[in-house]
Amino acid sequence: MKAAPLTDDLRTLYQEVILDHGKSPRNFRVVEHHTCKAQGNNPMCGDKVTVSARVSPTGVLEDVAFEGKGCAISIASASMMSEALSGQPATAAHKLFEAVHDLCTGKIDTDQAKAIVAPDLGDSIDKLASLSGVRQFPVRVKCATLPWHALLSCLDGKSQTTTEK
Ligand code: ZN
Repeated sequence: MKAAPLTDDLRTLYQEVILDHGKSPRNFRVVEHHTCKAQGNNPMCGDKVTVSARVSPTGVLEDVAFEGKGCAISIASASMMSEALSGQPATAAHKLFEAVHDLCTGKIDTDQAKAIVAPDLGDSIDKLASLSGVRQFPVRVKCATLPWHALLSCLDGKSQTTTEK
């Protein structure tokens, strides 16, 4: 099943969310006493994002932050990701990324994404759904997913990732 095209109202709202996070990114820093750090590189667009995180001994993402430069979509995605996942179990990162990725490629719609991450991260999908506008621009999907690849590399103990594989 394919997600329906966005309405104009929704598209405007989504653009506002992306511009807000793109201009004033949250958690734009390096995590103090981070337990992992990884850089993501998207040569197609020139996005370079370094994600750092601190995972507690019980597997909770105590803090997630990022630094770097890139287009509004990559920065907004990193900003929303850091907000959504701080305080969540590290395993939630995989689940949320799966939902965001499928949203961005148009495989699922917002309600289906919420069902994937329910119940803990349902609210995060409302914001992260703003990234789903990239489904019309396949090249941009890499911008939106870059910080997530970087975070998962970080959690896997790798220090580098690239969208070109
Ligand atoms: Zn980009």
